[in-house]
Amino acid sequence: ARNAKSDAAPDALSVLNHVFGLPGFRGAQEEIVRHVTGGGNCLVLMPTGGGKSLCYQLPSLLRKGCGIVVSPLIALMRDQVAGLLEAGVRAAVLNSTLSYEEASAVEAQLVAGELDLLYIAPERLLTPRCLALLGRADIALFAIDEAHCVSQWGHDFRPEYIGLTVIPERFPDVPRIALTATADELTRKEIVDRLGLGGAPSFVASFDRPNIRYEIVEKQNAPAQLKAFIAERHPGDAGIVYCLSRAKVEDTAAALNKAGIPALPYHAGLDANIRARNQDRFINEDGVVIVATIAFGMGIDKPDVRFVAHLDLPKSIEAYYQETGRAGRDGKPSSAWMAYGLSDIVQQRRMIEESNGAEAFKRVSIGKLEALVGLAETADCRRTRLLGYFGETPAAAKCGNCDNCLSPPVVRDGKVVAQKLLSCAYRTGQRFGAMHLIDVLVGRMTERVTQFGHDRLSVFGIGAELNEKQWRGVIRQVVAMGHLAADSEAFGALKLTESARGVLKGETEVMLREQAAGTRVRATRTKS
Ligand code: ADP
Ligand code: ZN
Repeated sequence: ARNAKSDAAPDALSVLNHVFGLPGFRGAQEEIVRHVTGGGNCLVLMPTGGGKSLCYQLPSLLRKGCGIVVSPLIALMRDQVAGLLEAGVRAAVLNSTLSYEEASAVEAQLVAGELDLLYIAPERLLTPRCLALLGRADIALFAIDEAHCVSQWGHDFRPEYIGLTVIPERFPDVPRIALTATADELTRKEIVDRLGLGGAPSFVASFDRPNIRYEIVEKQNAPAQLKAFIAERHPGDAGIVYCLSRAKVEDTAAALNKAGIPALPYHAGLDANIRARNQDRFINEDGVVIVATIAFGMGIDKPDVRFVAHLDLPKSIEAYYQETGRAGRDGKPSSAWMAYGLSDIVQQRRMIEESNGAEAFKRVSIGKLEALVGLAETADCRRTRLLGYFGETPAAAKCGNCDNCLSPPVVRDGKVVAQKLLSCAYRTGQRFGAMHLIDVLVGRMTERVTQFGHDRLSVFGIGAELNEKQWRGVIRQVVAMGHLAADSEAFGALKLTESARGVLKGETEVMLREQAAGTRVRATRTKS
């Protein structure tokens, strides 16, 4: 690195070859490096594993002064600095893990011009002491990693990122490069506003991860489905299983171990030592499955994770994409598998409604949830839908590597079936959940049916042509379409919404995908 700098005009390619040991650039890297080295600002959107780091590391070596990298991930900073030092780059880190003496030494190096790259945690950078320090140093560029954290609407908002507006204010002439792996239209706009990137180009790489096979199945008995999925498709493979609650993490890990699948729990309630040990085993041993809450995974760089399984619905498509993106970073065939059911939609909605966020925030959150439910319910290619959400239109409408492409679901006109369901909810007073509605529809004489006299209603037994499992699928889809909504204050009672009227009048189309009895997992099994 030192040589690179003392040369009259070190070119990017030779630094790439000699310092990083890489033969060539990937995708837009070269263009980005040229742009930033020339002093330009930009926004870089690249999927995880796409090679974002080089986009600021190289210009930092090619420009005069030290590149300042803002990153919220302490573990990731440490790993990157270790790798850079090994390659002969003068890199250091400033964060809360350093002692006062260690930090002072780094600060002295920076001011003396002895650093090529300095990684700083955002809350550290914002201190008056650090800003004054940066004022005295020669700075090559600012790289703001995980830039989506500035977005209040994003799924990973970090308040300390808001303060980063100070960078364009205090250092307007130093080039800024913001990088993220997840950003929808709204988040992108916020990044541009807050980091002063108006007029700067965006470099958007394709978000497609062609080696990941997407699969979303109807939740029946989630632990059994998960065991079958691992045994049939990924025996002996390393994987991550995401659950929403700590208790479910523990239960699922225990169930897998009992089935002979080595699994370790990971959640914020575990002792820090146990957590670190489980993480190390997952990274260093072969074929370990980690069962985790979403606390796990940010900044974990394990290239051979063969599957990511969701037993609960994530909050948004961004979160789903980011979590599933931890599979197959080495480019080899991998799976993103999710089991989901009506209770997931109801639960997530309740969590949003009961949170104490502002109304606008709740509305955005519900919209994000609905987009994810749309992905889970679609009968079309999952990849096309997923990429479409990020504003990308793939060349082919069908990817050939998702469950819907591999075994297209049967879709039928479900107008009459939906009308029966809505009438049933209406006639029973919109006070009951899915289970009771199904009993009434199929004409089952339960204690409750007798108690409320629902066997005397005209809707009793009008849905006998479908079985219980099929009705569950119908209800989930009708809720997902928004014609029925679960009332969180009335224990999940299903109520008609405004749009239900159009269905009852026969004015609204309702297409339903058929629930093939337990054959979907099998049908898509192709041993690769
Ligand atoms: P991101 O930050 O986008 O998740 P990284 O910068 O960590 O991705 O890069 C992911 C992996 O790809 C790393 O192992 C890196 O060495 C590798 N990589 C990046 N650029 C190239 C390239 N031009 N050629 C080969 N490998 C690359
Ligand atoms: Zn597809």
